[in-house]
Amino acid sequence: MEPVAIRGHHLLCALGFRGAGYSPAFVENMAAILRRLDATPAAPVLLVDAPDSICAACPSSHADHCTEASPLQRDRAVLSAIGHASGDTAPWDEIRTEVVRAFDPGDLNLLCANCPWLPYGYCQEGLDRRRKQRDVIS
Ligand code: SF4
Repeated sequence: MEPVAIRGHHLLCALGFRGAGYSPAFVENMAAILRRLDATPAAPVLLVDAPDSICAACPSSHADHCTEASPLQRDRAVLSAIGHASGDTAPWDEIRTEVVRAFDPGDLNLLCANCPWLPYGYCQEGLDRRRKQRDVIS
């Protein structure tokens, strides 16, 4: 199975994803990727600090965002926190567990300070829910 490229900060975004996004095509693409990965937890993921498989459906009105310094720095911060670097490949389930262990919902206030989705609280709630799952946090 070909690895799916996922940028570091999208590992956090995925935890709070509930069908909102930059356009219907963007939402459908992100939902399809997450459905595939969740259906095959051992699927290999290529970790990157650059536009990824989710960015591939970003509408042109937002495309510049994908290459800006801020999301790239966020990618590197997330990858570093889970002991990985751009170019690493690991199973989806393992990476997701590492992200949930590495971050507290309050961390997003600083890490994602300029993200327009932060005030909705979806990501903090998604991370909190995962952290409370018995199989992730003992
Ligand atoms: S606040 Fe923005 S960057 Fe941070 S996890 Fe949520 S959607 Fe992703």
